[in-house]
Amino acid sequence: MNLILLGPPGAGKGTQAKKIAAEFKLPHISTGDIFREAAGSGSELGVQLQGYMSAGKLVPDELVIKIVKERLLRPDCGNGFLLDGFPRTLIQAKSLDEELAKENRKINKVISLTVDEEEVVKRLSSRRVCLACGFAYNLNSNMPKKPDVCDACGGKVIQRADDNEDTIRKRLKVYQDQTRPLIKYYTDRQVISETDGMKSPGDVFNNISAVLKK
Ligand code: AMP
Repeated sequence: MNLILLGPPGAGKGTQAKKIAAEFKLPHISTGDIFREAAGSGSELGVQLQGYMSAGKLVPDELVIKIVKERLLRPDCGNGFLLDGFPRTLIQAKSLDEELAKENRKINKVISLTVDEEEVVKRLSSRRVCLACGFAYNLNSNMPKKPDVCDACGGKVIQRADDNEDTIRKRLKVYQDQTRPLIKYYTDRQVISETDGMKSPGDVFNNISAVLKK
């Protein structure tokens, strides 16, 4: 099964992707995680990537497409994959379809998570994430038992540099302008299913599971 999780920042894509990947035994490919890891390395490319992310801008298509193309060729993607945060532009979506078609593969399902903009701002400005495993915490509802230490892996829990209100609003604008058109793209291809991302993470996961098991 070749899957895409689509939705604005803060819709819960990362949280759901981890659960889906575990339940359906799919490699979880998050372009945001890949870029944050590269940015953390301090290389020249990493510094450039950090610049785009901190400004709430998209990384250029050419670079993102090259990285995802290489990742999808790895053997663990042979029986399917779960893309989280990619594609984010029509150019990326078309390029992905072309690459998959070369190997007689295609996208089987796109799960579109919907959430209100003000809820996104609220969620992301109070979000804290584990640097090591990416687990997402929330200042208001779910904090690690030991301050700044991940319950799951012991990693350091931090606030992402792009999770401040100014950058969150920029990221939402980028989503509306560049990523939202993908809903029509995948609706036309009859592969999209919409899920209400305002519900609790457990309910959202149950809804997604039901769609994927059909
Ligand atoms: P995320 O963790 O998915 O919110 O992504 C964090 C940041 O990484 C985004 O705000 C972009 O700067 C960059 N990024 C992640 N995925 C993509 C993509 N598919 N295209 C362009 N930029 C991306």
